[in-house]
Amino acid sequence: MRLLAPLLIATLAFTTGALAQTPPVPVKITVVAAQNFYGDVARRIGGEHVNVINIMSNPDQDPHLFEATPSQVRDVADAQIVIHNGGHYDEWMEKLLKAAPRPKRVVINAAKIANAKHGGNPHLWYAPATMPAVAKSIAAAFSKADSANAAEYAHRLGETLADLDRVAKRVAEMRATHAGKPVAATEPVFGLMADALGLTMRNQSFQRALMNETEPSARDIAAFESDLKTGKVKALIYNKQVSEKLADRLLTIARASKVPVVPVTETQPAGVAFHDWMLGELDALDKALTGPNS
Ligand SMILES: [Zn+2]
Repeated sequence: MRLLAPLLIATLAFTTGALAQTPPVPVKITVVAAQNFYGDVARRIGGEHVNVINIMSNPDQDPHLFEATPSQVRDVADAQIVIHNGGHYDEWMEKLLKAAPRPKRVVINAAKIANAKHGGNPHLWYAPATMPAVAKSIAAAFSKADSANAAEYAHRLGETLADLDRVAKRVAEMRATHAGKPVAATEPVFGLMADALGLTMRNQSFQRALMNETEPSARDIAAFESDLKTGKVKALIYNKQVSEKLADRLLTIARASKVPVVPVTETQPAGVAFHDWMLGELDALDKALTGPNS
């Protein structure tokens, strides 16, 4: 069959000259991204050659309570390439992949690529080194699946890395100004970025409890409230996507104590590229840490 096919095509081209000039309809690479920020980077690199379906894309939804719908289960089963965070952040995806084995499917797992320990913080896209590494893996998978367009994927990867480099540069610049400043957060979503900025993150056992949906201790809560009331922290980073009575209470105390509140999200907001999302949150934090009198 392998030997016969070129001969057959040559014969067809010879006999139907007009038809041979019609380019074939391009087949798009089917991609499913568990989180929309990985999907955004995949779409930028793949352009018109890929069809990207994002599963978690609603910034009003709590990602820690996520369950896939039947149509999302089918999308995962049909995908050639699946991109997900890994590192216990989206175990539902690992279950879906297991339930629908597909021998040639490529699975890009950010936690494995970033080779991340990060103290167990699963919000890996907030570590500035993660997305460039994931972007390179995505481009390599596209080039393998569709070598005819490899040059285009390489070009688009270059543009994507240049944008991500703007984030890395901004982080370095802010680190030079703000390293060592004490901050607090209601939840660990921004933790790896705070580490990259060299900030001193207080109240970490409180944050872990909230993320794992266990009750923070009375002592942790009291310490957190005291930090806010006495101005011991320069900013409160607030995950506005995860609604929690306790977090809301801290937000109220922060506002009453004139501690600047910096809202962040866990899912990429609509209509913003990944790097612009990061840069926007960094700008807001920079403003909060700089204070009103500088
Ligand atoms: Zn989270």
